[in-house]
Amino acid sequence: MGLVVQKFGGSSVKDAGRVKEAARKAIRAKSSGDQVIVVVSAQGSTTDDLIGKAAEITSTPSAREMDMLLATGEQICVALTAMAIQDLGESAISFTGQQIGIVTDNTHRKARIKSIDTRRISEALDAGQIVVVAGFQGIDEQGDISTLGRGGSDTTAVAIAAAMKQAGYDVQCEIYTDVDGVYTTDPRVVPDARKMDVISYDEMLEMASMGAGVMHSRSIEFAKKFDVPLMVRNAQSDAIGTWIVPEAPWMAEIPVCGVALATDEARVVLEGVPDEPGVSRQIFAALASANIAVDMIGQSVGHQGKATVGFTVLTTELERTKKVLASLVAELGATLRETGQVSKVSVVGAGMRHVSGVAERMFDALAGEGVNMKMITTGDIKISVLIEEDSTLAEIEAVLDATANEKIKKAHEDARKAIRGRKALRAVHAAFSLSRRRKGAGMPTDSASDSLFRAKPSPFANTGEKDREAAVARLDGMEDILVSGVHLNLDQSRLTVFDLPDRPGVCAKVFNAVARSGILVDTIVQNITVPGRAELSFTVPRADLSKAIELTANLLKQIDGDCRVGGEEDIAVLYVFGVGMRTHTGVARTMFAALAELGINIGMINTSEVCIGVVIDRARGPEALAGLKAAFNVD
Ligand code: ADP
Ligand code: ASP
Ligand code: MG
Repeated sequence: MGLVVQKFGGSSVKDAGRVKEAARKAIRAKSSGDQVIVVVSAQGSTTDDLIGKAAEITSTPSAREMDMLLATGEQICVALTAMAIQDLGESAISFTGQQIGIVTDNTHRKARIKSIDTRRISEALDAGQIVVVAGFQGIDEQGDISTLGRGGSDTTAVAIAAAMKQAGYDVQCEIYTDVDGVYTTDPRVVPDARKMDVISYDEMLEMASMGAGVMHSRSIEFAKKFDVPLMVRNAQSDAIGTWIVPEAPWMAEIPVCGVALATDEARVVLEGVPDEPGVSRQIFAALASANIAVDMIGQSVGHQGKATVGFTVLTTELERTKKVLASLVAELGATLRETGQVSKVSVVGAGMRHVSGVAERMFDALAGEGVNMKMITTGDIKISVLIEEDSTLAEIEAVLDATANEKIKKAHEDARKAIRGRKALRAVHAAFSLSRRRKGAGMPTDSASDSLFRAKPSPFANTGEKDREAAVARLDGMEDILVSGVHLNLDQSRLTVFDLPDRPGVCAKVFNAVARSGILVDTIVQNITVPGRAELSFTVPRADLSKAIELTANLLKQIDGDCRVGGEEDIAVLYVFGVGMRTHTGVARTMFAALAELGINIGMINTSEVCIGVVIDRARGPEALAGLKAAFNVD
């Protein structure tokens, strides 16, 4: 007998009719012979409404009381869903996070799951009940209610599926939502986006973390770590949705599977930072200690002993970021600047590792729209570009400021925020022809049959009570960071263009020149150094460096007499792989600390959910590799 975990999002339980539909889906799964756990979100806009209620009382509610308030939305919904199932003649029991022992840390409003006690769920399932669990919530070790962050019910569902798998069940998890599955990009922004049949865990992790709101990125960490077969599908139909699965060989053929837009980040630039070992560590350790996740990091190649470090944080964390860094910035003799409204467009695809020209195509598309790139960072399987939103829209803002109606103001504000970002998203989506049918998105793959995605039988299947307890014990720290490996690449060299004019199309031209000759560009970092000028660095195989320099230098002559190109052969790129690398702030901290202790300077930094990469001095490579292996306890 299998176990199906079905998660219904807010819109899929928004009213009595939808709750009943969800109940029918659960009953149908049970009738077909599976055991069923249902995880629900709060109904419709309940969570937003509760946040609004708090705002009517205070603009600075305590995080503990917010969690107490927000968790009620899901509690209402589990009771209603259990009633609906019972009313249809099937037995059901509802539980809050606390009742089934979802223990989290005490970071209110973005708590991480530490463990789940599956006993109460197992007992209810054994008694033939459909178990209905409140998403998004848990309790901390003091017994206080915590929540997992907006969209966190996905994470509850997959974490429960993972825990049940560990306890010996043959599990599958279905995420029911208001679209047919995971699309090549948000179908509400790009109407010709195509539904994917299959996407890999890593690709989904990057997509979600880069702004594809269809899944909470932390849920994918669980799915990958515990090998949970996962499908996103429509609550309003029976159509097969999108399978999220381990990477398959055919995926290497698809350089870009999707694009995403994030509009909730702010850019911070630290100028005049001493270019010495340990400085990045101080900056990012301070942020990590305050639990602020940093996204794009662009550190310029230092000259005259000073470097510029640019990074992005969530807009909601900007004020805290400034506070946390204030004294350090003063101590370093640096200055902190924040830059206006920005959006981030990212392309994601497993095949990017092997195919050249992805960056070039993306930058070309953006240049075609007259979009200026403020920052570029790459990861193993993604490229992100930060763009500035249109400043002419300031006029609209002024009108909105004068509007008294909060709802109208918010709606306009949301639309305004991403006008340029949306245009950029559409252009990039078109440039990669993502609306076309391909393997895994409209065309069959060798492995795209449902049955193949069904859970591999758990190693603990059909075990007795004692073994189950041992399995549950293994769940301790289940959301802890997982670093799976450290890798040193000694075959790369770095090319840097200094004082590149900061205007649309310039970067695209450089990459055009390099990519056209078939050179595979790996890590890219672009950052604005002084107003109007950018610094662009990228790594290429050492054997290709002189050719890449020559091509770039020839091109620069046509662009601007002031920009220069330089190359360094003696670099190494050091990568740390895992899941949740960016959102678990401790990874960067551990990495920078280990390198600082060895006195190794970090030249370039790139972060993504599945990989953090740094450029260091080649001669120190093996030592750095050993240091990181020890720091992360991997071989
Ligand atoms: P739920 O309430 O079910 O959790 P969400 O609103 O969190 O639903 O997620 C579904 C929404 O995610 C869709 O309505 C869609 O607009 C948005 N979305 C963003 N990116 C994507 C994508 N790549 N594929 C599908 N949906 C996406
Ligand atoms: N109700 C919570 C929210 O709106 C959790 C969720 O829907 O996943 O963020
Ligand atoms: Mg959601």
